[in-house]
Amino acid sequence: PFDVLVVGGGPAGAAAAIYAARKGIRTGVVAERFGGQVNDTLEIANYPGVPETTGPQYAAALEQHVRNYEVDIMNAQQVVKLVPAEQAGGLLQVQLANGGVLHSRTVILATGARWRNVNVPGEQEYKTKGVAYCPHCDGPLFKGKDVAVIGGGNSGIEAAIDLAGLVKHVHVVEFMPELKADQVLVNKLHTLPNVTVHTNKQTTEIHGAEGKVNALNFKCRASGDETRVALEGVFVQIGLVPNTEFLGDTVERTRFGEIVVNARGETNVPGVFAAGDCTTVPYKQIVVAAGSGSTAALSAFDHMIRTPEV
Ligand code: FAD
Repeated sequence: PFDVLVVGGGPAGAAAAIYAARKGIRTGVVAERFGGQVNDTLEIANYPGVPETTGPQYAAALEQHVRNYEVDIMNAQQVVKLVPAEQAGGLLQVQLANGGVLHSRTVILATGARWRNVNVPGEQEYKTKGVAYCPHCDGPLFKGKDVAVIGGGNSGIEAAIDLAGLVKHVHVVEFMPELKADQVLVNKLHTLPNVTVHTNKQTTEIHGAEGKVNALNFKCRASGDETRVALEGVFVQIGLVPNTEFLGDTVERTRFGEIVVNARGETNVPGVFAAGDCTTVPYKQIVVAAGSGSTAALSAFDHMIRTPEV
């Protein structure tokens, strides 16, 4: 059995594995896709000490760093179930889609999240070529240009306010007749001169040419009229879904599916810790995920030395 078994191989899982392995304890990582979400991005320029890298480069570096230690990496494996220990100090069980079962004294859940897609023509084709999901990451790429934000909830309006300070003009497109964000955010948005809000509009297509986005099409849900707005970027902000469905009721989650953790990365189940985008830790960023991964690993180690093995 493992002392620490990490589920997920993104920045949070990799940091957890490095910290655990450096304690000289038996460490394993099981991941569907090592590297996680960073595989899907081009430029990373906000990780302290790494002025510029690419997603695939960073993902490869994460894996190399973990491989420098004695860590059992099980890549391309999906976890389908977690079974808590029957008694304190007992072994937890992690079940794999291929039927395998792993045992460990502690488990760190770092399964990340995925952005909800709008599922219109052009979205997949122009991902990282104008279609973006993270304003903190990609906002600066659109300096002085026109962009749209799809989604009028809190994340959409926060993104629009953020982007309005960087880009030339922001179009906010909301499906419902009203913006769903908190009133303070909506009030702030309305004070900005370079934002246009389009409510009751259904996005129909992200249009592009020569490998780049050049327009957004949306339809008025009342009149049926189609509008095309020329722009260079589209930020999709209709929700981030944590990859935690497989946990069912075993670990406490919020109504958004985020695993509830305290400042030490502990969940409500003894011996089970969590880190990164799959948790309630605010701000879904690489540096935050890595930080919370190291916290979870140190907490798991702390738990082990205080809990007699049974
Ligand atoms: P993830 O990176 O999502 O990793 C989750 C891991 O868990 C993966 O290995 C996955 O395969 C695995 N997994 C999931 N479910 C299971 C399962 N059931 N069984 C086994 N394994 C499982 N942040 C920045 O700071 N800077 C940026 O420039 C930046 N750009 C981004 C661009 C894009 C396009 C996207 C999508 C995100 C970007 N982010 C950026 C956000 C950043 O990628 C995330 O905050 C970060 O990757 C979260 O790390 P994580 O380890 O918590 O989760």
